[in-house]
Amino acid sequence: MSHEDDRRIDLILGDAVTRLAAASDSPRLDAELLLCHSINLPRSYLFAHPEDVLDNTTFDRFDALLRRRLDGEPMAYIMGSKEFWSHELLVSPATLVPRPETELLVDLALREIPRKAEWQILDLGTGSGAIAVALAAERLMCQITAVDISEAALAIARENARQLELSNISFAEGSWSAPVRNSQFNLIVSNPPYVRAGDPALANLRHEPVEALAAGADGLDAIRALAAECGQILKGNGVLLIEHGADQYDDVAAILAASDWTNIQNHKDFAGHPRVTAARRGGT
Ligand code: GLN
Repeated sequence: MSHEDDRRIDLILGDAVTRLAAASDSPRLDAELLLCHSINLPRSYLFAHPEDVLDNTTFDRFDALLRRRLDGEPMAYIMGSKEFWSHELLVSPATLVPRPETELLVDLALREIPRKAEWQILDLGTGSGAIAVALAAERLMCQITAVDISEAALAIARENARQLELSNISFAEGSWSAPVRNSQFNLIVSNPPYVRAGDPALANLRHEPVEALAAGADGLDAIRALAAECGQILKGNGVLLIEHGADQYDDVAAILAASDWTNIQNHKDFAGHPRVTAARRGGT
């Protein structure tokens, strides 16, 4: 193969797909998206012009992206964005990559919030702002407060709200409920870290912020904090919705019950795993 052939779109793709097979569940899609990102053209271009030859600069740009993916970096960080609840959200290594499972949390929250409600809603550990943005866009008359301990994550979340022109979200920096101790909310949602600190799965997630993933030896430290703190800032009849690991439902329910939560109910994600637990507080 001549050097120029090495830079032909179809041959580049074929080679990249082979190399990505070990690093990705979707090697062809990844290769195509990385190449589109490098040439800054839509995917259809790749199929219409398979024999096009890339210039050296473009090829090097693609090769650098491919190497990052081969090293296990999530596509979302390489591309700079990830779709969640039909919004294309900015992400960075300061934020967890939004997962499709978390759309269950959004769905359950929306079922609680009447269409015309003017509720105060709190998202604790907002990260990229995925949940806060989804709720703010679906319930424009509600006011969402999004809290995170990471200034870098909050900068991304703020930018997502700005790009989607959502003015009904405010942001606060701090640990769990600390920045909002004097407020009261109708609904609190959280996708906290819940992976066990020694879980071998963390090795595969090494590009993501460990403080957004791991929470103590049993993975429940953050959920214990939420169970203990959220009662004081929830209005009567208020609801708390927490995402957790598939095998943590019993522990989460016991933690919530010990902190006087009632109506504790679990909901399964699209894979059939217990994923979100709802709990209520006082009221009538
Ligand atoms: N669901 C994520 C994972 O296991 C964890 C997200 C979280 O800790 N909030 O990949």
